[in-house]
Amino acid sequence: MRGGEIAVVGGSIAGCAFARAAARGGADRVVVLERSPGRLEDRGVGLCVLDDRYTELARAGHLDDGIRWHRLTQRHWLAHDPDGGGGPRGRLLWAQEMPFRSYHWGVLWQALRERTPDNVEFRLGGAVTTVSGDDEHAWLTGPDGGTESGTDRGTNGGTDRGPDRYDLVIGADGYRSVVREAVCPEARPEYAGYVCWRGSFDARLLAELPGGATLWPEHEVITVCYPGGQVVLYRIPGLTPGSTQVNFVFYAPTPAWLRPGDPTSVPAGALTTGQFEELAELAERHLPPYWAGVITLSPRERTFIQPIYDLAAPRRTAGRLLLAGDAATVVRPHNTSGAVKAVQDACAFEGAWRTADSWAELLPAYDRERGAVGREMVEVGRRLGRAQVTEAPNWSAMDEDAMTAWWRQQVAGTGGFGGHALGRPPTDRQAD
Ligand SMILES: Cc1cc2nc3c(=O)[nH]c(=O)nc-3n(C[C@H](O)[C@H](O)[C@H](O)COP(=O)(O)OP(=O)(O)OC[C@H]3O[C@@H](n4cnc5c(N)ncnc54)[C@H](O)[C@@H]3O)c2cc1C
Repeated sequence: MRGGEIAVVGGSIAGCAFARAAARGGADRVVVLERSPGRLEDRGVGLCVLDDRYTELARAGHLDDGIRWHRLTQRHWLAHDPDGGGGPRGRLLWAQEMPFRSYHWGVLWQALRERTPDNVEFRLGGAVTTVSGDDEHAWLTGPDGGTESGTDRGTNGGTDRGPDRYDLVIGADGYRSVVREAVCPEARPEYAGYVCWRGSFDARLLAELPGGATLWPEHEVITVCYPGGQVVLYRIPGLTPGSTQVNFVFYAPTPAWLRPGDPTSVPAGALTTGQFEELAELAERHLPPYWAGVITLSPRERTFIQPIYDLAAPRRTAGRLLLAGDAATVVRPHNTSGAVKAVQDACAFEGAWRTADSWAELLPAYDRERGAVGREMVEVGRRLGRAQVTEAPNWSAMDEDAMTAWWRQQVAGTGGFGGHALGRPPTDRQAD
């Protein structure tokens, strides 16, 4: 199939990957509408991609070695025993193989943006407010209230201002998606009952700590477990070539001052001094001294809070509307699969595009390939979250044998950790 006018709502990871897929598939016109006015890269931190998933996405032409990444090889699970055993790093519970690439979110996003073909139009700085569709067309209203009448931007076909008409509208607009409101309004993100504090800083600052950077080899991911949460720390490339950053994800109970029930994120720079100090208190109370020191190196302006959500849309398409990435499924970050699944969605869309003869074939084929897998990934995220945070074992009683058995239980019968293999149906899967 070739041709068609496509609007992509959201220009983040899924938006860039879908715009590229549609342009490569032969769309006549691809427009990306992103509400942020410009640079997104300063707001991101770290994400990881399992080596096997990277290989598939590179083969599909979406990722490549030109995108700066950092090698991770092992995950050290540590506990802070009450007697302080294990020294400044804590007691080693298990050294797990962890063949991952870590990325700076902003570096990855920038690379995907640069790799988007030149004929894709980016319109930045305005939110799409309404979306609708039927079996023949899809419509959206942008920040200007609709098409400039009498121009060829959009095809509302009239002289009065009205919604822009497209052959397909792709919702790559994240977990609070306006496109999802039109596809399946009943699907809402559900708060998992805990948050993560995130922070980052230049890895050279580790030298300020007793023991410096030598206490933490650079290819190790650290997970420090404590009752009620855990903190995951790893290095990522910095925004400038040659630099390295440390970033962390500190899972913790909902702070008393965050709106309970439906908490919202607190962006970097917005924490008050008192709120920011709570993170240092959490770290000192629960972590071995070295890791508590690492956490406090993140400055207030680079520290933020994200509530943890689950979301699984029951369907990904309705008429000429399609959901992608986090608009369709939000998987808890324990599974380190958010960016992978967004780019996999784009691969599936591109594959369906190449084999379909019509929109009526393409859209159900995409839904079939990604719907069940996406819902299953959400379940894996829930299972990992329960085992590692809300129903975690007594860490003081855990050793390597107990940890490996505990891990096997978490991934048994799933597509495994780090995201499902591309194109593998959910019924044909094995635990890693
Ligand atoms: C700035 C930013 C930083 C991030 N940093 C990290 C990180 O460090 N680590 C990590 O694991 N994940 C991060 N994420 C989330 C991560 O990108 C997603 O979990 C995953 O990659 C799937 O991405 P997505 O494109 O589906 O959704 P998102 O990345 O959430 O992108 C949705 C996009 O849609 C835009 N949008 C939303 N509503 C509208 C609207 N009505 N009209 C127009 N545009 C709209 C948003 O501005 C956003 O750019 C970040 C997301 C953003 C937006």
